[in-house]
Amino acid sequence: MKILVVNAGSSSIKFTLFETKGEVLLAKGLIERINTPSTVMHFSTHKGQKFDQDISANSYEAAISQACLALMDKNTGVIGNLSEIEAIGHRVVHGGAAMTAASKLTKAVKQVILDCFALAPLHNPPNYEGIEACESLFPNVPMVAVFDTAFHQTMPPASYTYAIPLDVAQKNQIRRYGFHGTSHNYVAIKAASVLKRRMEDLKLITVHLGNGCSITAINHGRVEDTSMGMTPLEGLVMGTRCGDIDPAVIFVLRRLGYTLDDVDKMLNKASGLLGLAGIGSNDMRDLIKAVDEGNPRAKLALDVFVLRIVKYIGAYAAELNGFDALIFTAGIGENVPRIRSQVCEKLEFLGVKLDAARNKAREMIISCDDTSPVVMVVPTNEELMIARETECVLSSQS
Ligand code: ADP
Repeated sequence: MKILVVNAGSSSIKFTLFETKGEVLLAKGLIERINTPSTVMHFSTHKGQKFDQDISANSYEAAISQACLALMDKNTGVIGNLSEIEAIGHRVVHGGAAMTAASKLTKAVKQVILDCFALAPLHNPPNYEGIEACESLFPNVPMVAVFDTAFHQTMPPASYTYAIPLDVAQKNQIRRYGFHGTSHNYVAIKAASVLKRRMEDLKLITVHLGNGCSITAINHGRVEDTSMGMTPLEGLVMGTRCGDIDPAVIFVLRRLGYTLDDVDKMLNKASGLLGLAGIGSNDMRDLIKAVDEGNPRAKLALDVFVLRIVKYIGAYAAELNGFDALIFTAGIGENVPRIRSQVCEKLEFLGVKLDAARNKAREMIISCDDTSPVVMVVPTNEELMIARETECVLSSQS
């Protein structure tokens, strides 16, 4: 089955076309700076063809039309015509408490996405716009929404409840939801298959370290806890987000004259590695270079980043009453051996023992033989997971 996966962000759209038989990625593209004079499309195919092209797209619909032209192009395309696309899977960030699994896009599901605009004001509106654009371009193609929050909806109430007055929380949907669920789910499934164990028999801690960072405790296939909360601001230190802080810091900043808008921007866009290191970049590669050059702020940023991860793993080890595998994924988790080793050094009391050579070589299993918990590096693949879930939802309904 050919499935198009669409991830519509605030100014860009990522699209990926899969043949689900054999899980072949046929083509993928990124359209950036939509609705500006400098819209550009980056496109590549499984046959190795690649191009970057300036395009004109003043709407999501226009951008997706351009993607379709690229997919059908007689030189670089991978399909003859659009009717070959049998289904579309949409990444949707927030499905609230209502969406506990990927769902076929119906009027009711679209309404849930609309209802969650307030919970994810930066993400759900463009996700929704992407859905509407595809509905207009592919009126007869079935579509599925795959929610970043859905995997976490098995969390028990003790994990998702904030200790604020319960009536206020319940009335206003103030609770922890968690994000990056598609990634945590994908790497957990992959890890179970590599370990040749059933998910129902495993206790896992998955550590997603990209620009956004989150960590999840998975107890026999169900999420026990996760570090992102009502919004993606909670939890680990991230590229530009602060993660956990004392909420009273916000009141102090207000008293110092910062507006709520200033504080929102500061905590989401100017904090984390960017704000700590002060090197004008939140890219881990730049940070590591600065650390190696002896920059003390960069070193502090790295130390705070690592310590927060260690704290969460310690907490989740306790919540899970021990665990079988620790899994690193995403840009930093997959590519930075030093962070994995700094984290794991602090976990030796739990039995964690890294094999330095395997860690450096980025093998799938990087712990020493016959040690437990196993430590793994599993590259994430959210697009493939969305394609799988799309196929699964549609085949269960046919
Ligand atoms: P996103 O959350 O945007 O999907 P990614 O998963 O791509 O982010 O992760 C981005 C982070 O991964 C950046 O901090 C980047 O520096 C880091 N990263 C990616 N590749 C490497 C690498 N080869 N070495 C070090 N850091 C890397």
